[in-house]
Amino acid sequence: KKWKMQAKGLNFYYGNFQALYDIDLGFRERDVTALIGPSGCGKSTFLRCLNRMNDLIPISRVKGEVLLDDNNIYAPSVDVVRLRRKIGMVFQKPNPFPKTIFENVAYGLRVNGVRDKNIIAGQVEKSLRQAALWEEVKDRLHESALGMSGGQQQRLCIARALAVEPEVLLMDEPASALDPLATQKIEELIHELKRFYSIIIVTHNMQQAARVSDTTAFFYMGRIIEVDETDTIFTNP
Ligand code: ADP
Ligand code: ADP
Repeated sequence: KKWKMQAKGLNFYYGNFQALYDIDLGFRERDVTALIGPSGCGKSTFLRCLNRMNDLIPISRVKGEVLLDDNNIYAPSVDVVRLRRKIGMVFQKPNPFPKTIFENVAYGLRVNGVRDKNIIAGQVEKSLRQAALWEEVKDRLHESALGMSGGQQQRLCIARALAVEPEVLLMDEPASALDPLATQKIEELIHELKRFYSIIIVTHNMQQAARVSDTTAFFYMGRIIEVDETDTIFTNP
């Protein structure tokens, strides 16, 4: 499989504080990469560097490159809004909008200027199916998303991210706020989604990394200290 994304010599600073040091890491197409490491080691910072979310933090600064299909996403000509559409993101705490289930999933399409009702309805259904949520919500699409369980809300946030057909999916501890059954559903979903997407998942749960990922990268104090195929790492500890 070829590289979908690669960080090359990536350094990141919050003001004078350096949070990432010389990160070199590649992500293959249709692979799951787990980012593991203790709290504060830079995992979330790195994830946010991959879709330029860190740009939003004043006085933050990047040195180095992140390639998406061989193009540096930090090149001056890059349209950051378009870039973020290609790179979906799911956060630790499910964060549905206080809108209906339908409108949560339709949101990105509306922002992109899609007006056709049939196209929107079709894409909403497709995304909810991909997020393994359709059967549970098809009769209550026009109810508030806030009435759903935590696990359902997280799958809704995944459906919302998928609706605009991203190429890469970033997940920042997507299951750590969920109960074991909801966590299992998210892990099963990741197995399904990797048929279509490159997935990068931050987790502090080694067992979860072993279950869901093809590649595991260990972060420590802003550096990658080990990266290898997950099977290799977990069979030769
Ligand atoms: P190339 O053939 O381009 O030199 P490398 O093997 O050097 O490829 O890897 C490209 C990038 O991916 C490097 O930045 C390297 O640190 C990183 N990398 C190496 N091995 C792996 C791996 N198993 N999984 C993910 N990234 C890797
Ligand atoms: P992790 O996700 O591995 O827990 P983070 O990427 O959140 O780690 O944090 C890495 C380091 O950057 C920590 O030392 C943290 O305190 C610091 N940091 C995170 N966000 C900010 C911020 N907005 N401003 C300044 N420092 C930050």
